[in-house]
Amino acid sequence: MTAAIIDGKAFAARVRAEVAAHVARLKEEQGLTPGLAVVLVGEDPASQVYVSSKGKQTVEVGMTSFEHKLPADTPEADLLALIARLNADPAVHGILVQLPLPGHLNSELVINSIDPAKDVDGFHISNVGLLGTGQKSMVPCTPLGCLMMLRDHHGSLSGLNAVVVGRSNIVGKPMAQLLLGDSCTVTIAHSRTRDLPAVCRQADILVAAVGRPEMIKGDWVKPGATVIDVGINRIERDGKTRLVGDVDFAGAAAVAGAITPVPGGVGPMTIACLLANTLTAFCRSHGLSEPQGLTA
Ligand code: NDP
Repeated sequence: MTAAIIDGKAFAARVRAEVAAHVARLKEEQGLTPGLAVVLVGEDPASQVYVSSKGKQTVEVGMTSFEHKLPADTPEADLLALIARLNADPAVHGILVQLPLPGHLNSELVINSIDPAKDVDGFHISNVGLLGTGQKSMVPCTPLGCLMMLRDHHGSLSGLNAVVVGRSNIVGKPMAQLLLGDSCTVTIAHSRTRDLPAVCRQADILVAAVGRPEMIKGDWVKPGATVIDVGINRIERDGKTRLVGDVDFAGAAAVAGAITPVPGGVGPMTIACLLANTLTAFCRSHGLSEPQGLTA
């Protein structure tokens, strides 16, 4: 069997087009424009690339982008004061603080100082609690993107066995909550899981969020399963730097029913979902109906 490729790049372009159409209608009918503020502290090169990409795509869908770049030694009080200003600013509907923060800053304190209604990353403790109790929340972008692709591919996920490998707060745990919300039977695996290959072989839906290049092999995959590879790992091969996922793509694609590639799978969906979340936050703050198909 050769798996169908789930094209995250094309899917993300569709999500951005839907967001852009919605934003254009809002401007025409209400004269209002959603705004996203991104805060970057320090000069981490990968974070700089992400932030400029987020700003560019925000403008492309017709939203206002506010970029705040602060020096690496910014005192915590200054960062908290900026977040308080953004919380109070009616032109800002989404706030994202790019992680990781420099070591002297308390990430939890900073994230929990964001107004939960503007927390478009879905990391505020209130949003984590709302998601965990099945209530309306802001949902972390990467797992939301995975859920959208799974719903699109399967229609209903009800009753399917899902295995999520990885239990981080930003991917594994919220992914598991979302799959549970769609009535999957969910197993969360991690570094202490016994006989991980056998656990993975039970999965109709296998989500890999581990951070170990090509760890999940083809013979860990149930024939016909859908494999979502969240991993982004930079490796050297044949003298070149390459991006690979947490799944051995060739081995898994020979067995799976469908699979996301790396690059071009989950990655592009993450920023698309950030834009979708900003639109959702805007609609909620104005008491407008939420965009269909762009929320959990
Ligand atoms: P973390 O390092 O926070 O978590 C990794 C998880 O994998 C942990 O729960 C860990 O278990 C588990 N794990 C590690 N080694 C093993 C092993 N040998 N067997 C089983 N489980 C293992 O990573 P993140 O969740 O932040 O990210 C995971 C991957 O996803 C990374 O490659 C990251 O780059 C990528 N990523 C991609 C995004 C995108 O936009 N596509 C966005 C965010 C992340 P334990 O808890 O027991 O230590």
